[in-house]
Amino acid sequence: MTAHAAAASQLATTWCGTERRTDYTASSLGSLPQVKVVYAYPSDAPDRFNALKDWLQADVAAMADRVAAAAGSAETIRFDVGTDCPSPLSYVDIAVLQLPQTAAQLQAMAWPDRGAAIRQAVLAQAGNLNLTGGLRHYAVFADDTLPASGDRTSGVGERPTDASPDPGNLSNGDGLVANIFGEGGNPTFIPPPSPGADTSDYMLHEITHTFGAVQEAAPHSSGAGHCYDEQDVMCYPDGGPYFRAGGATQTVCNLPFQAYDCNGDDYFNFAPPAGSYLATHWNSARSTYMCPLTRCQTAGAPPIARLAIPSAWSGAPFTLSAAASTDDAGLAGFTWDLNYDGHFDQTTGTNPSLSLTYKDQTPGVEGLVKLGVGAVDIDGALGRAYIQLPIRPPNVFLGGTHTQQKLRTARASGISYSVYGGGGTVRITLTVSSSVKRRFHLPSRTLATSRVLPASIQLAGHVKLKRAILNRLKPARSLRVRMSARLTPLGAGERAATRAANIVLR
Ligand SMILES: [Zn+2]
Repeated sequence: MTAHAAAASQLATTWCGTERRTDYTASSLGSLPQVKVVYAYPSDAPDRFNALKDWLQADVAAMADRVAAAAGSAETIRFDVGTDCPSPLSYVDIAVLQLPQTAAQLQAMAWPDRGAAIRQAVLAQAGNLNLTGGLRHYAVFADDTLPASGDRTSGVGERPTDASPDPGNLSNGDGLVANIFGEGGNPTFIPPPSPGADTSDYMLHEITHTFGAVQEAAPHSSGAGHCYDEQDVMCYPDGGPYFRAGGATQTVCNLPFQAYDCNGDDYFNFAPPAGSYLATHWNSARSTYMCPLTRCQTAGAPPIARLAIPSAWSGAPFTLSAAASTDDAGLAGFTWDLNYDGHFDQTTGTNPSLSLTYKDQTPGVEGLVKLGVGAVDIDGALGRAYIQLPIRPPNVFLGGTHTQQKLRTARASGISYSVYGGGGTVRITLTVSSSVKRRFHLPSRTLATSRVLPASIQLAGHVKLKRAILNRLKPARSLRVRMSARLTPLGAGERAATRAANIVLR
C-alpha cells in the first residue's frame, strides 16, 4: 500500500468481533450520524466475511486516516464502530447482508442498475442495520458483483446535487448508499487501481459522493460529479461537460497517492480561506458524518432543538428563542430556517435567539409562517425544531373579561377596558347605545381617548363617564354600552382595524 501522511484515526488495522447480520449496540456511538459498513454477497455466492474481515477493517481504517490527514488531524469520517472485543470502538461494526440476486444476475446488470439493486437491498434492511437510531449512510462492499470482463466500473455512490453550505444540505440527510463491486474469490476484494496503489481509493471515492462531492459549482468540477485536479480521489476523466481540451485532467498535485481534495478547493477543506468556494458553498468537511478526531470513539446523540412560540404582530420585531435546546455533549451553534425550505439561512453562532420582523405584506408571508432552528452540537450532529407562527395583521382586541362590569364601579371609576394592537394609535370610543328598560334615549356619545400602543403589550384602562351622563343614568339598574376601539396605522404595511365589544353594567 502507498504511504499517506499519517493521522491516527484510532481504528485497528485487523478486525475483532463476532460476525453479525444486525447492528451491534452493546458498544456503539449511539444515535450520532454514522457511516454503516456492510459486507454484502450474492444469494448464490459464499459469505467470505471471515476471509475479508481484516482487509475490510484495514480499508476502513485507511479511509479514516486519509480523511484525518487531509483535515490536519481535526476530524474524520464517523464510522459505526463497536464490536464484542476489548477496545470495542476500535473495530468497525460490519453487518453482513445476503443480497436477493445471484452473482450472475448482478454481474449482468449495467453498473447503475447493479448499484440500485444493492442500494434497495441495503435500505430494505435499514431497520436491522441501525438499531440505535439517527442518520446513516452506507458503505457497501458488494462481493462477487464485478463482472470479469466488459464494463468494470468499480462502484457507485449517491451524490445529492446541493451546493448550499448550511447543515440542511441534502448530503446530510439519511440513507445515502455507496457501493463498491468486489471480485469473487479475490483475497483483497478488488484489485488495486494500479499496482501498489491503495484499494481504499475505491470506497473513499464512493462514500465521499454521499458527503456531497463534487458539486457542479466547484472550481474544478468535471460537470459530472467529479473534478480534474489530479492526483485526487475524486478526479478522473469522466467525460463531463466542464472538461477543458477534450476532457483531460491536469496534474496539479504531483503526489504518489490520490489527495483528498488536491489544494482543498473543490470538495473538502477543514479550514477554507474566507470567501473561497468551500467557505461559501457546500464543503464535505462540514458533513454531519464527520467527527472531531478526539470524539470519533465517543457515543452521543444529536441535539434536541426547542423553539419557543413568540407572539408576533405584523411590522413589530419579535424574538425567536431556542434557548431551551439541549444536548448531551454540548451545543456548538444555532442556525435558522426562515423560509421553511429545510435549509438554514442565517446563523447566530452560540446565541440561541434571533430577532425578526415580518409584515403581513412581506412577500411570501401570508399571515402564517413556518420558522425553524437547527441546533448543532460539538459532534457536528443536528437537531431541528419548527414552529408555525401566525403573523397577525395590526389588530385590536377589546373587552376581554371585562364585558360584565358593576354599574356602581363604572359610575365611580369608569368603564374598564383592555386592548391590544400591533403598534399604532388606538382610539377608544364609548357609545351608550341603549338601556335595558329602554327608558333612556340617550344620543350616542363619543367619549374618546387615544393611546399609542406598543406592539404586543396589552393595555388596560378606564373610560370615565361625564357627570352629565352619569346624572341621566342614575335611575338605571342595568345598562348596556357599546365600546369600540379603532387602530390607526403608524407604519407601512400596517392597516386600520376596528373591534367592538358590548359591555353590560349591572
Ligand atoms: Zn464517482
